Amino acid sequence: MNMKTETIEKNVQKDIDVLAEFIHIYCVEKHAGTERARPKSAGDVGRYLASVDFDLCAECAGLLLHAVSKRVLCLYDTKPACKKCPTHCYGPGHRDKIREVMRYSGMCLIMRGRLGLMKKYFS
Ligand SMILES: [Zn+2]
Repeated sequence: MNMKTETIEKNVQKDIDVLAEFIHIYCVEKHAGTERARPKSAGDVGRYLASVDFDLCAECAGLLLHAVSKRVLCLYDTKPACKKCPTHCYGPGHRDKIREVMRYSGMCLIMRGRLGLMKKYFS
């Protein structure tokens, strides 16, 4: 593995960890009482999910897998903010959902005074 690939992998992992945490907050707050399982997948996506140590409901796990597979396949070396990206790669339903999740969990983090994670994501 060369240096460049290693850096890209680290960035991808960082994005995915933050994304997973946002979806987790949303799932816990919005889908209380739903049956949950550890999100799993094969191949590259599964490898990046290995660090996820919480369970999600089926709907949120599906959203996370979609987001991770898009992130892993992201064409750009230095990923632009999705908002500014010329390639809108999320499916339309997923795009709305992830926006709702980020907004909701972002608010939760602000209320809890956990701005560090917000900064990490939006930097
Ligand atoms: Zn959920």
